[in-house]
Amino acid sequence: MENITTRPDLASLNLLQLQVLMKTWGLPAFRAKQVLDWRNKGILDVSLMKNLAEPVKTALEANLNTQPLKLVTKQKSEDGTRKYLFALQRQNQSTKHIESVLIPDESRGTVCISSQAGCVLDCPFCHTGTQKFEGNLTAAEIVAQVLAVKHDLLTDPMDQGLHPMVTHIVYMGMGEPLANELAVFESLDLLMDESYFHLSRRRITLSTSGLVPQIVRLGDHAPVNLAISLHSAINHDRDTLVPINQKHDLSSLRQTLNDYPLAKKRHITLEYVMLKGINDRAEDLLALSKFVNPERERVNLIRFNTYPGSAYEGSSTDTVNAFAKGLISKGIRATVRRSRGDDIMAACGQLKTAKQGIA
Ligand code: SF4
Repeated sequence: MENITTRPDLASLNLLQLQVLMKTWGLPAFRAKQVLDWRNKGILDVSLMKNLAEPVKTALEANLNTQPLKLVTKQKSEDGTRKYLFALQRQNQSTKHIESVLIPDESRGTVCISSQAGCVLDCPFCHTGTQKFEGNLTAAEIVAQVLAVKHDLLTDPMDQGLHPMVTHIVYMGMGEPLANELAVFESLDLLMDESYFHLSRRRITLSTSGLVPQIVRLGDHAPVNLAISLHSAINHDRDTLVPINQKHDLSSLRQTLNDYPLAKKRHITLEYVMLKGINDRAEDLLALSKFVNPERERVNLIRFNTYPGSAYEGSSTDTVNAFAKGLISKGIRATVRRSRGDDIMAACGQLKTAKQGIA
């Protein structure tokens, strides 16, 4: 049986690459544009590409992987958030699942995508970190999550008042994106390619736990918006909460953030999940205020979404609000992230576990 993983993926081709393939198949290059018009709407099923001649459809089906992901479940929250669970379709990979979330509001539609099945890093408060690491995603599997959400919006439009399109992408789903550097960089290139989604770097945010050398290379390759999972500004506490800190500590992270090339009027976001008695004390506030560079950074305080078996509890609303006020009083921009999709457990890794629980 042919190993389909050796075929190119329709989800990861730009116009030039597909034109070259068309020529090798003895087909006119202009057909490539027609194919990508369908693909970019989220349609990867060749049989649905209505205006394509039969020989083109046959060549696509015979030579390309056209379905890198299979939708397993979709859940809709009352606030419009949609959460998707996908099975990988690479050979021998179909038991591996990943998840993506669409977060619509009035002015934008943001898709949160995964970069790995599970995560190699073991942040103890994070649900994905407690799950088995099952491997890196390919660039096609990363970008196909956005295609699948676009397809869903075609077939199941948003309720009135919510943005009907995908306008922003955040790499904040399962996995540490910079631990899958090559595929993630390739996926960024595709998202920004003018024959693909042609997204500006200002509409893409990559969230990392702080892999310092990779952040430097990201700044050189595709300086998209950056978010850092900080969660503590005290080295010995961060060593536990975000264990990559043992390798790249706060001082090396500080220097790297100072040097990261920011787009005009953009800030680096420091993500800080509020954990009761762990990182919400007076000394934590003091350390965080000293760490932040207010000219270039802002702090996003996140309410902890607890999950079955978690050893951590979220800080109370009063504590979160007092922490935010304390930062603001020191001239630091601080926001409390609005919780979206709580009723469908829209935090990292949770839908996947729910599915495994009923399997
Ligand atoms: S917080 Fe991010 S880096 Fe840490 S275990 Fe979870 S997914 Fe991985």
